Amino acid sequence: MSLLEVPLSFDCYDNPMKLNELKLTNPYLDLPQECHDRVKPSPLNEPFLIHANPYVARLLDIDEEELYTQDFVRFVNGDYHPQGSDTFAMCYAGHQFGHFVPRLGDGRAINIGTVNGWHLQLKGAGQTKYSRSGDGRAVLRSSIREYLMSEAMYGLGIETTRALAIIGSNHSVYRQEWEKGAIVLRVSPSWVRFGTFEYFAHKKKYKEHEALIDYAIAESYPHLETEADKYILFFTEVVGKTARLLAKWQAVGFNHGVMNTDNMSIHGLTIDYGPYAFLDIYDQNNICNHTDQYGRYSFGNQPNVADWNLRALMTALSPVISIEKMEKVMGHYGRLYTRAYLYEMGRKLGFERVNEDDLELIHQLLGALQGLNVDYTLFFRTLSRYDGERKEILSLCLYHGPMNDWLDAYDERLKENKEGVQARHEAMLKANPKYVLKNYMLQEAIDAAEREEYALVDDLFKIAQDPFAEHPEYERWAGETPEEFRNAKLSCSS
Ligand code: AMP
Ligand code: MG
Repeated sequence: MSLLEVPLSFDCYDNPMKLNELKLTNPYLDLPQECHDRVKPSPLNEPFLIHANPYVARLLDIDEEELYTQDFVRFVNGDYHPQGSDTFAMCYAGHQFGHFVPRLGDGRAINIGTVNGWHLQLKGAGQTKYSRSGDGRAVLRSSIREYLMSEAMYGLGIETTRALAIIGSNHSVYRQEWEKGAIVLRVSPSWVRFGTFEYFAHKKKYKEHEALIDYAIAESYPHLETEADKYILFFTEVVGKTARLLAKWQAVGFNHGVMNTDNMSIHGLTIDYGPYAFLDIYDQNNICNHTDQYGRYSFGNQPNVADWNLRALMTALSPVISIEKMEKVMGHYGRLYTRAYLYEMGRKLGFERVNEDDLELIHQLLGALQGLNVDYTLFFRTLSRYDGERKEILSLCLYHGPMNDWLDAYDERLKENKEGVQARHEAMLKANPKYVLKNYMLQEAIDAAEREEYALVDDLFKIAQDPFAEHPEYERWAGETPEEFRNAKLSCSS
């Protein structure tokens, strides 16, 4: 089930639970022992709540009042163990920047159990067997980024993990300097990664490998369990979900930054938020990760990298699933991606129907935007009110020629719409967010948090949840990114 299709459990309004009533299960621990390592969290010193997400609390049947108790802080700190909790880290491998690393695993994430199909994980809760030389911690700045961004992606209608809460602490963690440690309690319907399969394939542990495939089908594609061809259908669905996810990233202007195979979800979710960015100025070649010297994970290359990653998954699955059949499925990836992208861009452009010919118009637009110094989000929001008067749109562009040419073609294409201008505007305002959480906005919230002021986290959380609304009180974040902060690269250190 897609994350966005998970219904809010309205039962919980009648029957919200206290933490001491919560009952966790641990389905992943039924897998062979090689798949995980039982490990206890190492709590942070002097923890305190920074923010909690009442909407995620509802998914877990947790009473909202519980979120503001001392026991809840202990819970997020790995220091309060609800009934049934059995903590563990998951093992996986992965291709990092194209190079195979045979063993990675949850080096700083500790799973604490499952409620209503949501697997709870503490990111930054200390070392595990898979920490390698890492300290098992996460710093405040990267934790705020993950906490807010996963909610922002959800608000935009993009499949993602989410988070129940973030806590800060007085725990010192060393990166390039001393910083404060934090923990995000994240939730997901699956934490299985492409790299999880790569681990067992590389180790030639075929019994575990097959058990993991069956587990992933039961967890993420339960409708396939009784199908005779369930394995190839499983791969086909992973390819389809990944293609659709990538189409959404590209349409909204999201640059993930670290598309290693260990950061690719078998459930088709956006996972592991690191040095990501929303585009400020539109640039196909945008690189948001400081470590990405050659632009492997540049914005424009993301759909190709997903293809590469799916092929790595295909190789890993080949001991169990016919490679010829998987090759055939991969032959459709490009078409699946293009179709999904057309759909997303058609919505952004206010077309009532899309057809293959629209691709040319879309490419003409992207070609025009490249080099016009245009804020990607602002451009589409402005276009959402376009009624033939070009002044406002042209004022966003460095030169007018390419945009005027494109608007001529766009005007022509809009004639195919049957409904009026008003209906198009309404539809486009629901497809083109007014706000995305750009890095400079997050940085402002982080700078304040480092001064122990957390109001901006709450403000950005509100925007994240409803990015299509006007929010006049946050108007200052709706414009162009200030020049000095545009298209910045971020470090992977977190
Ligand atoms: P990431 O780039 O955050 O997806 O992490 C890549 C790998 O490094 C994963 O296996 C992480 O668990 C591990 N890792 C990252 N940071 C740390 C840390 N501070 N301590 C231990 N392991 C880490
Ligand atoms: Mg990761």
